[in-house]
Amino acid sequence: MPEPFHHIPVSTLKGVGAAMAEKLAKIGLHTLQDILFHLPLRYQDRTSITPIGHLQLEGEAVIQGAVVSADIATGRRRSLLCRIADGTGSVGLRFYHFSSAQKNQLKPGTEIRCFGEPRRGASGLEIYHPEYSIVKPDEPLNKEATLTPVYPTTEGLTQQRIRSLCEQILMKMSASDALEEWLPASLRQRFQLPSLTEAVKQLHQTPSAFAQALCSGQRHPAQRRLAFEELMAHNLSLRTVRQKVRAGGGFCMPARHTLTQQLQQQLPFALTAAQKRVLREASADMTSSKPMLRLVQGDVGSGKTIVAALTVLQAAENGFQAAVMAPTEILAEQHERNFREWLTPLGVPVAFLSGKTTGNKRLAELERIASGEAMVVVGTHALFQADVDFHKLGLAVIDEQHRFGVHQRLALRQKGEKAGGQPDQLIMTATPIPRTLAMTAYADLDCSIIDELPPGRTPVNTVVIGDDRRDQVIERLRSACTKGQQAYWVCTLVEESEALQCQAAEVMAEQLRATLPELSIGLVHGRMKASEKAEVMTAFKAGHLHLLVATTVIEVGVDVPNASLMIIENPERLGLSQLHQLRGRVGRGSVASHCLLMYHAPLSQQSKARLMVMRHSSDGFVIAEKDLEIRGPGEVLGTRQTGLAQMKVANLERDRDLLVDVRTAAQQLMEKTPEHVAPLIDRWVSNSEEYLNV
Ligand code: ADP
Ligand code: MG
Repeated sequence: MPEPFHHIPVSTLKGVGAAMAEKLAKIGLHTLQDILFHLPLRYQDRTSITPIGHLQLEGEAVIQGAVVSADIATGRRRSLLCRIADGTGSVGLRFYHFSSAQKNQLKPGTEIRCFGEPRRGASGLEIYHPEYSIVKPDEPLNKEATLTPVYPTTEGLTQQRIRSLCEQILMKMSASDALEEWLPASLRQRFQLPSLTEAVKQLHQTPSAFAQALCSGQRHPAQRRLAFEELMAHNLSLRTVRQKVRAGGGFCMPARHTLTQQLQQQLPFALTAAQKRVLREASADMTSSKPMLRLVQGDVGSGKTIVAALTVLQAAENGFQAAVMAPTEILAEQHERNFREWLTPLGVPVAFLSGKTTGNKRLAELERIASGEAMVVVGTHALFQADVDFHKLGLAVIDEQHRFGVHQRLALRQKGEKAGGQPDQLIMTATPIPRTLAMTAYADLDCSIIDELPPGRTPVNTVVIGDDRRDQVIERLRSACTKGQQAYWVCTLVEESEALQCQAAEVMAEQLRATLPELSIGLVHGRMKASEKAEVMTAFKAGHLHLLVATTVIEVGVDVPNASLMIIENPERLGLSQLHQLRGRVGRGSVASHCLLMYHAPLSQQSKARLMVMRHSSDGFVIAEKDLEIRGPGEVLGTRQTGLAQMKVANLERDRDLLVDVRTAAQQLMEKTPEHVAPLIDRWVSNSEEYLNV
């Protein structure tokens, strides 16, 4: 079998030495496949000669005519103006850089062919610096009937050069089957996909018949084929992980309604219908001996935590341990408080482990986890470190901020080994994800949605206000807090730097303390010690603080029902979903809540549109859809979204219309030609070994 193109380095091409290879690498072209999949930005139509009389502004064209005159014009800048005519009309060719040899060459009567874009010039229609050559009057167009691709490039890498490299590879392609077809004909037919070699060829040597469609911005059918295949590969990589995890065998932990019943009786509220439904779905998964792989999506405040606690108890009822992982320290500590409050009265011991649990305390917790004394372990990702040894881990609940990666999944799987199987996984996302995206990004998981908020919530009134009205905002804050309400003041920064962000919050807290001496004001940010943060949060929760100045660390999960006012500075710097998460911190009690989005003028059209979405909607799914529309999938899924964010050809936003078919096609491939799955993943997914060897 020939070496596949994605394993052959560009340096094997004729004329590619170290220097050229380096240039190619600069734009991500390392292998022959990379060059083949390097899509043209646009195409030029040089396939036919346009009569000069039909020339239009703003359209590149090939024309041919005889030189009428060639004179040096002395206007503001010296230039050579050459007029040519073909019987249908005449046009000027203007050169600001020219030689006298060039002028002499353009003698009247000489037939020339040129390519360029006509503009309105001093002498009527003119083409500035056209590419041109002298031809015989009846000389045929020497290019075949294909459009000329224009590629994204970098300094020192000419279009000519990329085109010729492509040609070299296309020759190799027709001579070998190094670019193998992994999509069976039946599948291609069903989804109207050209073959891969045909697609690749058409991409670089596009028939002129496509010109119109491409110029009007349509997706190239070849591009559709490549994007489709790439999306399939990603979908399949996740399905492969799923298949392997599911095949591993898990634990049968049926609902025994002992501990779960007790907790429900003890709660001051009844579960919503949506919570009950999701719980039933998870409970059925746990009963099955196949490992659960379930995603629970639910808007901020929809009550995911109690659902998690009840699944944890179902594991405990069966004598299994459960791990509950939160994305941040603050959240982990909050979960710890909740779980202790709920589980301790039932006699279920809880342990805690985070990066900040150290020394003897850590050793003691590790011992409780290993001996099985701790039935539930709450913590951050520190839970999955190598030295954490579970006695009998049956369930992992992951409250995630970003995608839980494959390697993390792998680490988790090993944690169950001692108990002889794979722990169930219940993944909770704080950010609602549009359906099509979820289908792609979470192809390995079954989905449950908590699509109902607990009763009695009053919607948050959101106001968009300029920071030139800061004084008014502060007055409002003073008046609300002196009436016994509590508030958040959230500081944002452009820089990713946590240090700067914390500093900004410190400065803001100082300023507010000076302006509002009658209020007690607390501060939390990511650089404080866990114990300090906990102290401040506890004080705020207990109502000892009026105002909490915070960085975006409070984003997820923090729950203080009496807080009814939130001011977010420079909300234009944050994503909509992030703003939605933040805003979800208020509106949890019975008082009407307000969120002031205090922007810094001037706002771009886009930013304005985004803040308006926040003003008008409080539905996380609607907001996520808008965020996807306005900012694209990379942002919605979070920057750490592996794989999907760095696709070669596909673009989740442009190619969203393919996702439903992609899923069906991936399923079909897995069922009918499973031997094609691994090579397809290998072709498209970086770090594919990770997926294939799980
Ligand atoms: P999230 O889904 O954002 O994680 P939480 O689990 O933190 O939401 O729940 C938000 C608040 O709603 C908590 O105070 C929780 O105790 C409360 N809650 C959860 N379920 C219900 C319910 N069915 N009825 C009333 N309050 C509930
Ligand atoms: Mg939560």
